[in-house]
Amino acid sequence: MPAISIRPSDRVFVLTGAGISAESGLPTFRAEDGLWAGFRIEDVCTPDAWRRDPAAVWAFYSARRAQGSKANPNPAHIALADLEAQLSGRYLLCTQNVDDLHERAGSRNLIHMHGELAKSRCERECGRPPIEDHAIYANIDEVARCACGGRMCPHIVFFGEIPLEMRRIEREIAKSTLMIVIGTSGNVYPAAGFVHRARQSGARTVYIGPEAPLNASAFTHIVEGKAGEVLPTLFQVAQ
Ligand code: NAD
Repeated sequence: MPAISIRPSDRVFVLTGAGISAESGLPTFRAEDGLWAGFRIEDVCTPDAWRRDPAAVWAFYSARRAQGSKANPNPAHIALADLEAQLSGRYLLCTQNVDDLHERAGSRNLIHMHGELAKSRCERECGRPPIEDHAIYANIDEVARCACGGRMCPHIVFFGEIPLEMRRIEREIAKSTLMIVIGTSGNVYPAAGFVHRARQSGARTVYIGPEAPLNASAFTHIVEGKAGEVLPTLFQVAQ
């Protein structure tokens, strides 16, 4: 694949999904068995699941924290941090991932639209901000209460909830001239619709992953391959 040239006038918006962390050993969401790490999403990743069985939700996300802390950024995360360093101020990374591998690779201008594993928030949305929390809870009784009395829950946007920072994301997409999407199946909205917005404003749109996503027709270029193998040599930045 010839390099993707990035011009001095380009503004770059990157969207990543579970696939970029696959080579770090973290399972994707739509694995062949349709489960995420052996669980049905509706049992652990919905507001209903939280109301029904908060202990099961915490058991799932505690296991994700334990797994995430053992994983390391792979060459794809590092290639994006390097790209940001070359494009200062003309680059935004929006991830659907809740792991912290992008920041550990050095990415700074970063939005976690679906939340962060390493934080917890009040279940009552009482207005207090999420807090950093790396704990692995063996028992629901260990989970702290917020000052308002609500139970703390993982800082995760459950399916059916509105993702974080959508206004800022929309503004950034409208300004971008190049959208790069990596390792996401094009199943989960609103993220799967970002490429359509970028096309409406005339941006080039590139997808990178081992197979074409469901929204493939909206991309101007598709690069088939694993992110960790493709990304380190994909970008050519003109100064
Ligand atoms: P998905 O599981 O639906 O799709 C993963 C995509 O990654 C697939 O299209 C697959 O072809 C591709 N892929 C697999 N290996 C790859 C590789 N080496 N390089 C590049 N691409 C590769 O993921 P999604 O679309 O991101 O949706 C899943 C949802 O679940 C997200 O909203 C996310 O919040 C959550 N999730 C997060 C993590 C994480 O934080 N690491 C992991 C699983 C799920």
